[in-house]
Amino acid sequence: MVDAQTQMVGLMGWPVQHSLSPVMHNAAFAELGLNWCYVPLAVRPGAMKEALGGLVALGFRGSNVTLPHKRTVQRSVDSLAEGARRLGATNTLIVRRQADGSTAIEGHNTDVQGFLQALHHGGFQVSEASRAVVVGAGGGARAAIFGLHQAGLRDIVVLNRTLERAQAVVEDLGAGAHLRALALSRETLLDCVERADLLVNATPMGMWPDVDESIWPNGVPMPRQLTVFDLVYHPLQTRLLHQVRQSGALGIDGLGMLVAQGALSFEMWTGVAPPVRIMRAACEEALRR
Ligand code: NAP
Repeated sequence: MVDAQTQMVGLMGWPVQHSLSPVMHNAAFAELGLNWCYVPLAVRPGAMKEALGGLVALGFRGSNVTLPHKRTVQRSVDSLAEGARRLGATNTLIVRRQADGSTAIEGHNTDVQGFLQALHHGGFQVSEASRAVVVGAGGGARAAIFGLHQAGLRDIVVLNRTLERAQAVVEDLGAGAHLRALALSRETLLDCVERADLLVNATPMGMWPDVDESIWPNGVPMPRQLTVFDLVYHPLQTRLLHQVRQSGALGIDGLGMLVAQGALSFEMWTGVAPPVRIMRAACEEALRR
């Protein structure tokens, strides 16, 4: 029950109505008997600064931030954690209240750690010798690429439809020859994957309602040594993961990353260990509906 003692957190984005985060966090609060509530907060592009003032004024403890505000919110917070600064994206805000009544908003990023945790739990052991191909160069791809770079991988190829965007990610990392940007095509994909251990799909291909799409060409067997991490989680079993199963390779769905980044935010706000299984089950249930 929501009452005067309820601690509020939310998700600031545009649009936010289809997000799984409210279901996931509210299930976790209920499981632990915490008097907290997570609400979607629709914030129009350009209105983030005012929205942050509202968040503080209304006594919120923090918020998640999603598209299109992950980059722009960084201009309006009081401090940025190192990971968020380096990635150039914030997905978690904490409102700190001082004894003198003043407040400060901290910006954090839990996507990078969420990606690495989900990769690990999915059964892929990251090592410096691992070779990865990431398809996409948007927000999700950035988190994956920064995570793999942080984990010390010496061979990462970024394939993107728009080459300039892949080149921008590589430049932002200031990395050497071990990180390459190439234009996405059937040929570059098949060629790069032949020598890779990990393929990450960070494009919306295969996402509902375009469930018949896949980055992998039809009728081409997938190398069996490959682990494929599909960041798409709606549907949970994408066409790409179906192709992976048919080839006998290892597939990891995108829900693990969503839950892991959410669990990290949850712990930052509440200081309590999150019930990760309950959070995942709540998301699966919502996806089934
Ligand atoms: P984004 O920032 O808009 O980036 C989309 C990327 O996909 C861009 O690189 C874009 O290429 C590429 N792309 C889009 N349509 C394409 C197509 N038809 N063919 C080839 N490339 C295409 O999006 P995002 O936030 O990174 O999200 C991408 C997907 O990852 C979404 O399905 C999202 O739900 C998922 N995601 C999941 C998690 C998770 O926690 N599991 C986290 C983040 C994202 P251009 O640069 O050429 O436009």
